[in-house]
Amino acid sequence: MKKIIGYILLMTMVIIVIPFIIVKGCSTVVEDLIPMDEPEILEKNEVLYLDVYVASEGETKKMPLEEYLIGVVAAEMPAKFETEALKAQAVAARTYAYGRMKKIYASNNSDAHRGADVCTDSGHCQAWISRADAIKKWGEDSGKENWDKIKRAVNETENIIIWYENKVVNPLYHANSGGITENSENVWDGVEVPYLRSVKSKGEDASSEYEVVTTFKEEDFISAFKSELPDLKIEEENLLDQVEVLERTDSERVDRIKVGDVNLKGTDFRRILDLRSTNFIIEEEESGEIKITTIGYGHGVGMSQWGANHLAKEGKGFEEIIKHYYKEVELDNIKNIEENFENY
Ligand SMILES: [Zn+2]
Repeated sequence: MKKIIGYILLMTMVIIVIPFIIVKGCSTVVEDLIPMDEPEILEKNEVLYLDVYVASEGETKKMPLEEYLIGVVAAEMPAKFETEALKAQAVAARTYAYGRMKKIYASNNSDAHRGADVCTDSGHCQAWISRADAIKKWGEDSGKENWDKIKRAVNETENIIIWYENKVVNPLYHANSGGITENSENVWDGVEVPYLRSVKSKGEDASSEYEVVTTFKEEDFISAFKSELPDLKIEEENLLDQVEVLERTDSERVDRIKVGDVNLKGTDFRRILDLRSTNFIIEEEESGEIKITTIGYGHGVGMSQWGANHLAKEGKGFEEIIKHYYKEVELDNIKNIEENFENY
C-alpha cells in the first residue's frame, strides 16, 4: 500500500509539479527580458476602451477594445480562415489599435480620423464592420456562426499584443505576399524596421487572386501617369519600348521602373495604376493593349494573411505564425507591460 502511495506521489510530481516548474521557468525567461519595477497591473476586469471614428456613419464611438477587434478581424480576414490564423490577425489588429491608443506611430495624423484613436478606413487604419453588417454580408445561415468563430478567436488572445525590445511593434500585414514578404525599407524608403524582414511565405497560391492580370488601353496607361506627371515624355507608339524595369528587390518586386523619361519607384508605379502588388511583369497584347500580371496582393510587409492561413493549416499556432512574420518579437499581455511602455 505504501508503495502505491509512494508511486502516486512520484507520478504526481512528474505529471503536475515538474511541468509546472518548467512552464514557470519559461515565463521567467520572458520576464527577464522585460525589466519590471512594480508594474501597474490593470484590475483583472478593467476594460480598455478606445474611440473609433466610424467613417461610414461619420461619427466617433467609444468601444471596448476587445469588441472593436471582432469587427476588425471580420472585416480584414475571411471568416472561413483557420482559427489560429484569425487569432494571429486578432493579435496584430490589437497591437495596432493599442499603438494608436498610445500614439506611438510616426504618422500619427489623427485629423484623418477626427481625433479618434482609430478610424475604420482600411487605407488609413484598419477596416472594421459592425456585427449587423457582417451578418448581413455573410447571410443569415452562416453569419452568426462566423461572428461567433471570430469572437472566440479574439477572446482566446485577450489582451495579447506584440512587442520588440520593450516597444510595441507596428504590425503591418497584407493579404498575400506572393510567396515571400518584403523588407520594410523597400516599401518605405529608409525605414529599416528590425522585425519587418523578408521571409518565405508558403501556400499563398491557394488564393484565387494569387495571380491577377490587368490590361490597359495604351491611352489609359499614358493618361494615368500624365495625370500625376504632366511633363512626362512618352508616346503611344512602341509604348513598351519606353517602359523598362530597372531594378527588382531581393524578393523580386519591382524597385525602380522607367516610364518614358521618368524613373519611378515600383510602389509609385503600383499606386498610379492601382495594381495589386509591385511583383509584376509587363507585356504587350497582340491588340496593342498593355497586360500586367501581378503576383500577390498588398505591400508585402509583415504578416501575409494567406500565408498565416497556410501555416495554421499545417498545425502552427498563432504565436508561431506571428513569430514567423515578425522577427524576434515577443507576445505579452497588455496588463503586464503597461508600466514598461516606451515610445516607438
Ligand atoms: Zn485612421
